[in-house]
Amino acid sequence: MKLTQLGLSLDQQLCLDNLFLILEEAKKTKNFVRVDMESSAYTQRTLDIVAAASKAGFQVGPVIQSCLRRSQKDVEDLNRLGSRVRLCKGAYKEPPGLAFDQRREVDENYDALAAALLDGGREPAFATHDDRRIAHVIHCAAERKTARGQFEFQMLYGLRRRRWRELAREGHQVRIYVPYGTHWLPYFYRRIRERKENALFVLKGMLSD
Ligand SMILES: Cc1cc2nc3c(=O)[nH]c(=O)nc-3n(C[C@H](O)[C@H](O)[C@H](O)COP(=O)(O)OP(=O)(O)OC[C@H]3O[C@@H](n4cnc5c(N)ncnc54)[C@H](O)[C@@H]3O)c2cc1C
Repeated sequence: MKLTQLGLSLDQQLCLDNLFLILEEAKKTKNFVRVDMESSAYTQRTLDIVAAASKAGFQVGPVIQSCLRRSQKDVEDLNRLGSRVRLCKGAYKEPPGLAFDQRREVDENYDALAAALLDGGREPAFATHDDRRIAHVIHCAAERKTARGQFEFQMLYGLRRRRWRELAREGHQVRIYVPYGTHWLPYFYRRIRERKENALFVLKGMLSD
């Protein structure tokens, strides 16, 4: 879920109260709740809220974006706290001071953060459709003899269906994210407005499968 949908841009305590209502329900069914990461304007507040929720004993974890320069330090801190992290490249247009502006740098940072999460993280999740990043994770996990049940790949419903099945057949855990309900269209528009590459990405994915 996205914390701005729970009031993050209005009031941090309101957002935390709303999140706790959801986490209480999730706890009843022993469910883990992933909190998405939004633009860099919300990074610290999101990490603070997830840390407060973890401290309160809920099964909840944040997302780290490899496009952000701060992410290496964030991963170190989250590893120390034993947080369950999802790693992604980042879907938001960010100011160059805060983010890498070259695709190559975002990819290199993804690989470095993936290795750090496999070294010291707890059940990390690697959200990507990029074969090179997936290959790097598999290589690092094999080098470290990390069991396949100790990490997972995540992709979006509708993209790279064949690849999910291949990974699952090879014994990897794969989780597919499904936007559902009546508000999927505004969600889709928002993703496109955030960054025009998102539209191209979805169209490419739909055509290539
Ligand atoms: C489960 C999940 C959760 C996410 N959560 C967040 C979040 O909380 N916050 C956030 O900012 N972003 C999130 N994202 C979005 C993410 O940050 C990226 O914007 C998005 O996933 C695109 O990056 P990529 O790593 O998939 O690969 P890209 O860099 O877009 O693509 C790299 C390469 O992958 C290959 N590829 C990609 N798609 C295909 C395809 N369909 N067929 C063949 N090859 C393909 C191509 O070679 C392509 O050049 C999430 C993504 C996923 C999958």
